[in-house]
Amino acid sequence: MISQNALHHAEKCRFCWMCRHLCPVQHQTGKELNTPRAKGLLLSMVHKEAQQFDKDMAQAMYECLLCDACTNDCATGYQPPLFIREARTEAVVSELAPESVMHLIDNVERTGNIYGVEKPGFGREGTDVLVYIGEAAAVKAPEMAENLLKLLEKAGVSAKVLEKEPASGVMLGDLMGYTEEVRQMAAVCAKALNETKLPVVVLDSYDAEIMTQKYPEWGFEIAAGVTTATAFTAKLLAEGKLEAKAPLGVTGACHDDDRLARTFHEFEPVRRMAKAAGYDLTEMFNHGKLAKSCGTAVAWGYMPELVTRIAGGRWTDLTRIGCDTMLVANPETWQCLSLCVPEGCRLVDLFGALL
Ligand code: SF4
Ligand code: SF4
Repeated sequence: MISQNALHHAEKCRFCWMCRHLCPVQHQTGKELNTPRAKGLLLSMVHKEAQQFDKDMAQAMYECLLCDACTNDCATGYQPPLFIREARTEAVVSELAPESVMHLIDNVERTGNIYGVEKPGFGREGTDVLVYIGEAAAVKAPEMAENLLKLLEKAGVSAKVLEKEPASGVMLGDLMGYTEEVRQMAAVCAKALNETKLPVVVLDSYDAEIMTQKYPEWGFEIAAGVTTATAFTAKLLAEGKLEAKAPLGVTGACHDDDRLARTFHEFEPVRRMAKAAGYDLTEMFNHGKLAKSCGTAVAWGYMPELVTRIAGGRWTDLTRIGCDTMLVANPETWQCLSLCVPEGCRLVDLFGALL
């Protein structure tokens, strides 16, 4: 059902509770089933034919944000998202995936994105870099995309955006694992990006992750390179192409999104942007590599109520340190944290704040 490699990880996790306190889904649901250990145990039982992979089990595999907090904390190097993602492939193939998940997959097949709408275009010509906007920003955080483009213009960077930007494949990969459909989607996207011959600046770190981690493995490397929009903006600040603003006298805390934190280990650029936007900085208890997830666009798509609670948990982390200003530079975290901004608190888009 899952590969030997994934099964090896599941077999190790099934004995272990060491990372259970870090799982944001377990925090909010309080369900033992929502620990990496329990998911490993289920898959181990299926392998031993002690239990059948059924709808309930498939449901359990989707109660995970693929946030990698468990992997990051694992002293022995095991990776629950590896077996959870493969179990999702099995769930889809054997028609056991939840209806809400299948609805999103249908949307991706029809429109290229989970939202099931035509992706708004940001097309423009430019000669220095290609900006990849991504589905979440285009549909749910278009102001953030516009702010990034205006910021680049202000810094004298000539930015191109594809009129019809293909999906990167990251959303489908999170929904159904790295199947042939996802690889085909990635191939189309890589071809379109490579045809421009421009270095690619990627707004959503989730897209940047698949482009840098999976595309090369599948033979679709982006030849001119991929940079996150946060790292690129911080570089413009360091080069003096963007000016720092006067202090605002406001203290804020940066939320590190899952994939910047645990795939790219990129923390400083967002903080440099926040300081340049005039904010004094404080930190939430779980930040940097340990940052607690606030949800993802994909998870919001099939379990909006739970993602709203998870995002609420991140707001609680903020208010617990006596802060009311959450600073973000990722469209998916913007989308999730926007769901439940507590009274008196503010969610700030750092690209907009720097304008
Ligand atoms: S990821 Fe590591 S710490 Fe977490 S359950 Fe598996 S073996 Fe234990
Ligand atoms: S990837 Fe995140 S949500 Fe999934 S089991 Fe690990 S800690 Fe929990």
